[in-house]
Amino acid sequence: MKRKMTAVLLTIAMSITMTACSVRAEKRYKASFLNLFDTVTEIVGFSESEVKFSEYSQIIYDNLNEYNRLYDIYHNYEGLNNLKTINDNAGIKPVKVDRKIIDLLLFSKKMYELTDGNVNIALGSVLSLWHEHRIAGLEEPMSATLPEYEELLKRAQHTDINRILIDEKASEVFLEDPEMRLDVGAVAKGYAVEKTAHAIEKAGFVNGMISVGGNIRTLGSKYDEKGKKTPWSVGIQNPDFNSTKKTLHVLNLSEGSLVTSGIYERYYIVDGKQYHHIIDPKTLRPAEYFVFVSIVCQDSGMADALSTAVFNMPFEEGAELIKKLDGVEAMWEFHDGTKMYSSGFKSMIKIDDKEQNLCS
Ligand code: AMP
Ligand code: MG
Repeated sequence: MKRKMTAVLLTIAMSITMTACSVRAEKRYKASFLNLFDTVTEIVGFSESEVKFSEYSQIIYDNLNEYNRLYDIYHNYEGLNNLKTINDNAGIKPVKVDRKIIDLLLFSKKMYELTDGNVNIALGSVLSLWHEHRIAGLEEPMSATLPEYEELLKRAQHTDINRILIDEKASEVFLEDPEMRLDVGAVAKGYAVEKTAHAIEKAGFVNGMISVGGNIRTLGSKYDEKGKKTPWSVGIQNPDFNSTKKTLHVLNLSEGSLVTSGIYERYYIVDGKQYHHIIDPKTLRPAEYFVFVSIVCQDSGMADALSTAVFNMPFEEGAELIKKLDGVEAMWEFHDGTKMYSSGFKSMIKIDDKEQNLCS
């Protein structure tokens, strides 16, 4: 059943802002919701009227809400088989699911192959142990602990992505290994944003931008004060929160996506050391190569999957992968502040910090 979120609609209505643009029939509007994918969703776009923009916002909301419920591993929803249902039935029985789940799983398997296993949605049993320790550590910082390595190794035995059995005809998914758990945190947001972007484009919203917790997808162009079409501007967040400079770079982005994976998004502290939420499948610990990796490419699902995977790869390996992928660009920041860029990245930068070196 489609849930009508009156409270959220109210949020949309209240947060729509309008920028008049005298030379064009379309005006610029903004909306935001707070309850999807555990983060803030923001929409900016051009529309003929506020009413029309509200309709578009509702479509975006409904789409994202549906994906959010289907891809949820923590909550049950009445009458809905979602990823939690699949996890709960690991080793027990196949679960009949919506095609949107099958498609996400097939996409995730492809990303696993492409990235040599560095993004693996079957890593859930390992990730949940880190998750439990992080939550406990945030609640009781003085007694924060790390997972036992032995236990991580034990759980790593149950992360074989090939044991996710998908019956496309019957639309069923079965986790053959009773100890396996799915975690789609690395891919689901971007994938849902991409599918939602297609849906809203079809509905007529062709010049806009959707950001779900910084997972950004732009559509078409924006109009400047003179009514001239220009690319959307999207910022890469400065990981130094004490700096007055909020973005490291602002990029020109038309019909594309920007996604970042970083150490500052979710973490906890044990004995003075920060442990973040992106786990290297090779070490079963938080990857330590970079502060963040940003990916730009058209498909937001791909950008999300790659951002996590490349974050888990040594620079040379990640750079090699990016180089061989058409239309994909990346930026890496190392712990000493060094920044590296793939060869096409420079041409997307709109406003750049003059002191920074761009290297290919
Ligand atoms: P992202 O912020 O897109 O890099 O995704 C991070 C989230 O993905 C984490 O919170 C975990 O839920 C999950 N995750 C962490 N490490 C991995 C990994 N190596 N493969 C797949 N998912 C992961
Ligand atoms: Mg990701």
